[in-house]
Amino acid sequence: MSKVNLAFQKHYYLTHEFDLQGEMDDIKRINYTLPEDYKGFFRRKGHCPFCKESMNHVYQNSKSATIGVDLYQAIDIWECDCGYWDAFSQFIEEKDLIYSVDSKHWEKRICSVVSSLEDVRKEKAIKQLINVIQKDSSKAYSVKPKHFEEIAQFVFSAYFNCEVEHVGKSHDGGIDLLIVNSDKPILVQVKRRTKSDAVESISTIRDFLGAMYIKSNFNGIIVSTAKRFSKPSNKVIADLKSHNKLEYFELFDFNRFLSILNAVNLSRKKCWEFLVSDYNS
Ligand SMILES: [Zn+2]
Repeated sequence: MSKVNLAFQKHYYLTHEFDLQGEMDDIKRINYTLPEDYKGFFRRKGHCPFCKESMNHVYQNSKSATIGVDLYQAIDIWECDCGYWDAFSQFIEEKDLIYSVDSKHWEKRICSVVSSLEDVRKEKAIKQLINVIQKDSSKAYSVKPKHFEEIAQFVFSAYFNCEVEHVGKSHDGGIDLLIVNSDKPILVQVKRRTKSDAVESISTIRDFLGAMYIKSNFNGIIVSTAKRFSKPSNKVIADLKSHNKLEYFELFDFNRFLSILNAVNLSRKKCWEFLVSDYNS
């Protein structure tokens, strides 16, 4: 099972503290606490460890004040196109001395947590595919079925604003995705048809209803690149709904799916934004 659109929400801190003291020509670093992950802390700033590329410098701020001692505070945040971000902040307290130095330094590196490199690459690839389909929807017909499942995973994750699991290869009775928006996830079947005039037949619906029945879960979605669902398909769903035999059920033909796919904002979620508000508070 893989999860998309979740990387980069979590983060961890590495801290480095030290004091500088001494005469101008003999300044010593004392009382220091080295970061737990030394290599991680001193890794090149503004450089994505996954893409091996420079990241965008998305935020920078600094402020200083004198309250008996000189105070200086600064933060820099970088973000990569793949979604990875990290930040460096420092706080310095320094006595105002002319011929010597006496200062305290607190440095913090805040790194986003990546579930796996594979997830990073996958998310990047899916976003590129979504972007291609947003520009030319006919490209969806030639996307590999597995990739179309991943696209649907990403789109539904954005649409329902929750985690969506890709059940993947297990072919769990035709269930491809689980939309985890409550204790009872919505079961999703994804059909990638190659022809723009395809019609999704009643047999697709019957098979999927069977899989739902086995799971005792009556929340479902079928999404297809077909132009429409057949009349008997629509009728059977309408009948079951009217008899309260389905809790939630939606059919997404290609146009309906495109309308939510086109609304997906591929720009960053700015998972680091909390740092900016922390900094300004
Ligand atoms: Zn990157």
